[in-house]
Amino acid sequence: MKLGIVVLGAGFGGLELSTILSERMGKNIDLTLIDQNDSFYFGFSKLDLMFGRRSAKAVKHSYSSIVKQGVSFHQETITAIDPESRRVTTDKGIYQADILVVALGADYNLEATPGLAEGGNEFYSFAGAERVREILPGFKKGHVVVGVTSTPFKCPPAPSETALMLHEYLSHQGVRNSCKISLVIPFTLPIPPSLGSSKALLKAFAERDINYIPENMLESIDPLQKIAHLDDGTELPFDMFLGIPEHVVPEVVSQSGMAVHGWIPVDQKSFKTSYPGVYAIGDVASVGVPKAGMFAEGAARVAAESIIAEFNNDQFLLPFNGRGSCYIQFGLDQVGRVDVDFFSGSSATGIYHEASEALVDEKASFESSRRERWF
Ligand SMILES: Cc1cc2nc3c(=O)[nH]c(=O)nc-3n(C[C@H](O)[C@H](O)[C@H](O)COP(=O)(O)OP(=O)(O)OC[C@H]3O[C@@H](n4cnc5c(N)ncnc54)[C@H](O)[C@@H]3O)c2cc1C
Repeated sequence: MKLGIVVLGAGFGGLELSTILSERMGKNIDLTLIDQNDSFYFGFSKLDLMFGRRSAKAVKHSYSSIVKQGVSFHQETITAIDPESRRVTTDKGIYQADILVVALGADYNLEATPGLAEGGNEFYSFAGAERVREILPGFKKGHVVVGVTSTPFKCPPAPSETALMLHEYLSHQGVRNSCKISLVIPFTLPIPPSLGSSKALLKAFAERDINYIPENMLESIDPLQKIAHLDDGTELPFDMFLGIPEHVVPEVVSQSGMAVHGWIPVDQKSFKTSYPGVYAIGDVASVGVPKAGMFAEGAARVAAESIIAEFNNDQFLLPFNGRGSCYIQFGLDQVGRVDVDFFSGSSATGIYHEASEALVDEKASFESSRRERWF
């Protein structure tokens, strides 16, 4: 009998997990991979899209090209998950799993921040990034605020990258001198575990005249007056607000009862939930690391190892180590990298690799290698 695995979500985590299981036990599995979309895109490609560097078509990778032993992809919307019975309902059918893996990522709740939907622009969703791409060319002067509304949020360096890429975009448009850029983030340092990365970013902000507002978040927006109210009481007038909205589990996850304090709790080493045979990986789970593709991928490797070990009655030998790397886009031809370690010491640490053209190539091959492996 083949092992019936149902993987919910074909993002970073779901794709990596399905790929490993196909490679290692393709003959012995019947794996159903379900996603509501017809294609995958990398999180960072939303920034490329927003600043007009790449088209929507160029950053989307169609799930129809997934051909893997033991794996079948279904484009369906998941409407209910029963973790006790490992039964999943979609808009097209019902699936019963021996092993269920929840990899549904994080959604956004714009309503949590009064005025954000009316007076601001979120750019963390694909549709949001596309909307900003449409309005940016018309922006010739004024104050742009890039601001975080709550924690946790995906890819902690992304707001800083956005401010730097915005500077580059406005400079190329020839309007930078008529524009002011402010960046509102909740931390003291742009990348708290890494002093080296933070210093490099603070230097880049200073050189580019980006107004850095640390230890603060957006509380609300007055859409008529165009004023951002920060949580320390500061009022920040703006002409364009680029917001990072509150992150939440997808509704189907919150309805399943699996989330506790906002996210699905898992065993930090194996990504098993408290429900037998049910794993949760990536942004949807809470495990003490940032919400980032690199960590979702790491979680997928560990969960896959655990599934394979149990199937073979072997010992599970690859507990999650809380390590990962994030690229930091300083501009078109400058990318830095931070290697972070969340579990080894008493607090998280991060080693910075200075921005260079070599890291531009490394980031590009990171993307192309996943594309080749997953599709
Ligand atoms: C602007 C931006 C920049 C980023 N830059 C980086 C970066 O440089 N490096 C990095 O490592 N990370 C980056 N990230 C973060 C990264 O994209 C996410 O952390 C990563 O995608 C999480 O992987 P995941 O598998 O948990 O979820 P996702 O990749 O979000 O996948 C979840 C999948 O579940 C599907 N889904 C959800 N609900 C349903 C439903 N009801 N039915 C069917 N399908 C459903 C979705 O369609 C989606 O495909 C960035 C994110 C953003 C927004």
